[in-house]
Amino acid sequence: MFQRILVANRGEIALRVIRACKDMGIEVVAVFSEADRGAPYLALADQAICIGPAVAAESYLNIPRIISAAEIGDVQAIHPGYGFLSENAHFAEVCRSCKIEFIGPPEQAMRQLGNKNEARKLAMAAKVPVVPGSEGLITEEGEALKLAHEMGYPVLIKAAAGGGGRGMRVAHNDISLKTGLASARQEAESAFKDGSVYLEKYIEHPRHVEVQVLGDRHGNVVHLYERDCSLQRRHQKLVEESPGPNLPDSVRQELCQAAVRLVKTAGYYSAGTCEFLVDKNNRFYFIEVNARIQVEHPVTELVTGIDLVQQQIRVAAGEKLAFTQADIPHRGSAIEVRINAEDPAAGFRPSPGVITAWRPPGGPGIRLDTHVSAGYRVPPNYDSLVAKLLVYRPTRDQAIDTMRRALSEFHVEGIKTTIPILRDIFNDIAFREGKVDTTYIERTYLKKET
Ligand code: ADP
Repeated sequence: MFQRILVANRGEIALRVIRACKDMGIEVVAVFSEADRGAPYLALADQAICIGPAVAAESYLNIPRIISAAEIGDVQAIHPGYGFLSENAHFAEVCRSCKIEFIGPPEQAMRQLGNKNEARKLAMAAKVPVVPGSEGLITEEGEALKLAHEMGYPVLIKAAAGGGGRGMRVAHNDISLKTGLASARQEAESAFKDGSVYLEKYIEHPRHVEVQVLGDRHGNVVHLYERDCSLQRRHQKLVEESPGPNLPDSVRQELCQAAVRLVKTAGYYSAGTCEFLVDKNNRFYFIEVNARIQVEHPVTELVTGIDLVQQQIRVAAGEKLAFTQADIPHRGSAIEVRINAEDPAAGFRPSPGVITAWRPPGGPGIRLDTHVSAGYRVPPNYDSLVAKLLVYRPTRDQAIDTMRRALSEFHVEGIKTTIPILRDIFNDIAFREGKVDTTYIERTYLKKET
């Protein structure tokens, strides 16, 4: 096992990894940018090293600086968290060539799955259903028009390198397809330096259901059941839960097996997530693999009792999984909500600044993953997530009741947060009945037709 690990990330996930290391008796080195200097979670690491200015390209995304910090800190492995360099196959390669283990999947699987178009091909090879769409990348407008007519509108233009909802456009007719193609390409080019796009049939009112998988370096792969993440705004998740409400058991089984088949085909190990869309007839379609730990991983930790970050570390150190599929339980109902420094009343505009009051909920059935407290300044430079509030109860109804209580206890001043809209959602009958889809927030709360 490693003696010392570096966390190449910030905020709540850096703290999550620090805690996993401490639980395992491993020393941990944190890194920080100027914007995060003095953040309280850094004091929990054994060492904290400044890696540059606030701008991510010069700190959390800067490979030479992170490798230097790893050398100064004398670590044997790097945990990348999520976002930043976590899905960067080149970074994984650099780490390993410097004899520092990258806590994540093998580079080759990352490369293949990191490109949505390649991942689609792999899914087809593993006999996993994909959303109907173009066979490969779309290079000509004429080709896109022809395909859209064959599939029928609406269609979705997707960037092969896309992520975080960027490089994606819905087209309802020829005109919006032409403009969408140009703008999706442009957005993907500037965000990912890769403007290639492809077309998919736009599934109307789908649910987003994903499967957590875990593999070791000895060819063992298991799934840890599903998470329903249908409540999203602008294709970004706000609420995640397991088990998925109203998901027939036979569909759950098929989904989980499809996910295992897919990652086995890719020669994958470590933690990963296969994302699917489920239509109103419970047909499911693969959309992408996230080759990293996800924000919502604690949902799965609560229902299975398995610590996913510790598992990632064990797998990276070469250990075999200590359990088989049959040993993995799924008990009760877990729900996570994302508390972001954003103003839901102003289209979720970021709301950085100093938190002047912070009174989080407590009591039975609650887990709070956060790096902030009163007096903390939310920097404007990064993702706006400030806390993940989770509840774990025997049934979904009880979990919703506990979340309602927890959200009513949660008191924050100084910044705007997503708490008010989350309170509305947990009072919403459609949500309680499990009858929401990925367009629900936009249709119901932002009053925008989709
Ligand atoms: P990203 O990597 O940018 O997050 P994804 O491919 O994971 O993009 O898709 C994000 C979200 O976009 C999904 O959860 C879903 O809400 C929506 N989406 C993606 N593909 C489709 C599709 N073919 N039809 C309808 N909605 C889709």
